[in-house]
Amino acid sequence: MQRTVGKIRITKVVEMETVGSTRFILPLATNEEIRKLPWLIPRFATEEGRLKMSIHSLVLDTPSGRIVVDTGLGNDKQGRNIPTWNDRQGPFLDTLTAAGFPPETIDTVLCTHLHVDHVGWNTRLVGDTWVPTFANARYVFGQTEYEYWRDHSIEPDKIAVFNDSVKPIIDADRADLVASDHRLTDEITLIPTPGHSPGHISLHIVSDGQSALLTGDVAHHPCQMAHLDWSSTADSDPAQSTATRRALFARFADTPTLVIGGHFDGAHLAREGDAFKFITPS
Ligand SMILES: [Zn+2]
Repeated sequence: MQRTVGKIRITKVVEMETVGSTRFILPLATNEEIRKLPWLIPRFATEEGRLKMSIHSLVLDTPSGRIVVDTGLGNDKQGRNIPTWNDRQGPFLDTLTAAGFPPETIDTVLCTHLHVDHVGWNTRLVGDTWVPTFANARYVFGQTEYEYWRDHSIEPDKIAVFNDSVKPIIDADRADLVASDHRLTDEITLIPTPGHSPGHISLHIVSDGQSALLTGDVAHHPCQMAHLDWSSTADSDPAQSTATRRALFARFADTPTLVIGGHFDGAHLAREGDAFKFITPS
């Protein structure tokens, strides 16, 4: 997927795509309930009502530099709760390079939040040491988010993620900790969107009169636009995540803003009753 928003080109680089088996993350999104939302099918769900999702990075080519938003699972990681996320040997860096973005050409890495599937490629294993994957990049983390995981990573899997994918960036002095409403470039501003995680951030792009919203994991799947209270099991504060979805979607519904998720492709938001739906612009 590639989109152009004013002077900014957005390219989705996929690490993994899945169909179904999403009950562990969105338990209320049963096949039967999904089939009641025909606008999801076939782009975001199958005829049977199974959810289509992906783990991907978004590369932003901007006039002032090249930015990678979120970095997936990574290779060689250990201690993950989901077995297939351990010891991966995927071709993500080759895919990124083939798409025209060799890692050394990346100027900025931004993580919308510091969960396992958004920080993995921050680092790669060289010998027995985790080193920054993007050798010439500054890494931008929300300060609130960073401090939360620094101080509250207690479960073994959370400690593993922090130690192999976040701490090495800090130790290498490559991180910039920013406010959740930080202005990243002339065209990109962060929006605080807490709830999925305490310091979660989204990106608002405005360039030459066009705009896009990169939601991160405000929603894991567009079905949460129709069911704002369908919180993910990974949401740190389900009530807050519901309120954040409502406020963010209300702000961008029925506007020309392209909305792209951390795990789903882009479309436009429209109001539908008390909630929202995704419409593909013609
Ligand atoms: Zn995620």
